[in-house]
Amino acid sequence: MREYLKFYIDGQWVAPAAPKTADVINPATEDVSGHISLGGLADVEKAVAAARRAFPSWSNTSREARLEILQNIQAEYTRRQGELGEAIMEEMGAPSGLANGFHVFLGAGHLQTAIEVLKEFKFEEQRGSTRIVKEPIGVCALITPWNWPMNQTTVKTFPALATGCTMILKPPQLAPYSAHILAEIIHAAGVPAGVFNMVQGSGALIGTALSTHPEVDMISFTGSEGVGVQIAQNAAPTVKRVCQELGGKSPFIVLDDSALAKNVADATSTMMGNSGQTCSAGSRLLVPASRLEEAIAAARDAANAVTVGDPRGNVAMGPVVSKGQYNIIQDYIEKGIAEGAQLIAGGPGRPEGIEKGWFVRPTVFVGNNDMVIAREEIFGPVLVMIPYKDAEDAVAIANDSNFGLAGYVSGEDAEQCRAIARRLRAGWIGINGGFDFHAAFGGYKRSGNGREWGEFGFHEYLEIKSLLGYAA
Ligand code: NAP
Ligand code: MG
Repeated sequence: MREYLKFYIDGQWVAPAAPKTADVINPATEDVSGHISLGGLADVEKAVAAARRAFPSWSNTSREARLEILQNIQAEYTRRQGELGEAIMEEMGAPSGLANGFHVFLGAGHLQTAIEVLKEFKFEEQRGSTRIVKEPIGVCALITPWNWPMNQTTVKTFPALATGCTMILKPPQLAPYSAHILAEIIHAAGVPAGVFNMVQGSGALIGTALSTHPEVDMISFTGSEGVGVQIAQNAAPTVKRVCQELGGKSPFIVLDDSALAKNVADATSTMMGNSGQTCSAGSRLLVPASRLEEAIAAARDAANAVTVGDPRGNVAMGPVVSKGQYNIIQDYIEKGIAEGAQLIAGGPGRPEGIEKGWFVRPTVFVGNNDMVIAREEIFGPVLVMIPYKDAEDAVAIANDSNFGLAGYVSGEDAEQCRAIARRLRAGWIGINGGFDFHAAFGGYKRSGNGREWGEFGFHEYLEIKSLLGYAA
């Protein structure tokens, strides 16, 4: 049983102003795995005041001093990565291999990237007689979701630290453990008091208090579209910068060539990774209509081959994060059937032989782009295959979405892949499975307005000052 009842404020672990706790549920067992405290307005006030007090000195530290701190964090992070993997498995149900693998690796990658970027980043440049200076924006509120908990917290925290900002992290109630360990890591690394603060609690209360707070300069938010809009509205009266990383319904285009079956299979198993709870998931699989039968066979086999079960075992997929998410996904599966999509793998209910835990069957539909299951983000292991006539049609279908977070193109003709990738209206396009920590991550359209990862993440936390007449 984990008892994570204290908040990290002003360099210390402190009890909440008014005690109130919540159960944390292990989604694989439905059992209580521990407790957190739920903060209130007094806790937010304390954390914001601490961050405000710490800002003048932290924002004036040298690049070298901040590098040293980040390297200390790296040593602590490496030392505790096994605990982080365990916590992630327990809080959101990722299988051990994934939790200890990619989940922990993403955090380490963002940390290493922040170090590399900080070494080279140009905080100042001369343009004619003008000096352009980039300065930390101030006190930042970081509000994160549960689906890739370590990725989300680190992709915000490390660039914020590196640029000289101070911050308050509000982790998700559903996945609070790894964030708590991250705060311990940051404390052990010697980050000065008040620079990093963490308050657990409900988004509606803590998140709103941060979004409206006059002493908070910026909000970096990752989560759903609805909450992103709410935060922007709450932040408007105090003219905060609001960086939004929201949802997606990203297209995965498989080209008509001899790699089709393999590419369809890869796209299908990738979709089921992390139980489909990935904002950039390729959840619309676009295949050539002339080869639909072949694509169906490949996707069905790939989906049926996904092993689902106890995350402590050697499985590809664990549960989804909560009962609430399970119910939402079940509703979408029912909706897909009702709107006439062809179910080719999975379907309603739990996988055979599993009676407990929020496990969903890896599900694949064949449908069209007008269906609800093709337009709305399901955030579960549900893939919609959509046939296209030709490349022109594929691009049109791909771009016919309110979202624009990611896109994928797989095929043997690299020229054609690149040409199609250029035409997709989205921020993160994978060509035959590319990956890069230094690439910009973020969305077009309703998928948000921010860009994280690499040096792009630094810009979110910086103001730009022009010193005119600096050089005669
Ligand atoms: P969510 O409901 O939007 O919650 C995200 C965070 O916001 C949580 O910490 C939540 O607190 C908090 N929150 C809730 N209401 C708030 C309010 N009124 N003001 C301020 N904060 C508030 O999202 P989710 O269900 O956790 O995550 C799933 C969604 O996130 C999906 O739509 C997914 O696509 C998106 N996502 C996007 C990206 C990206 O990079 N673009 C990455 C991951 C996920 P609680 O603890 O109370 O819930
Ligand atoms: Mg939510």
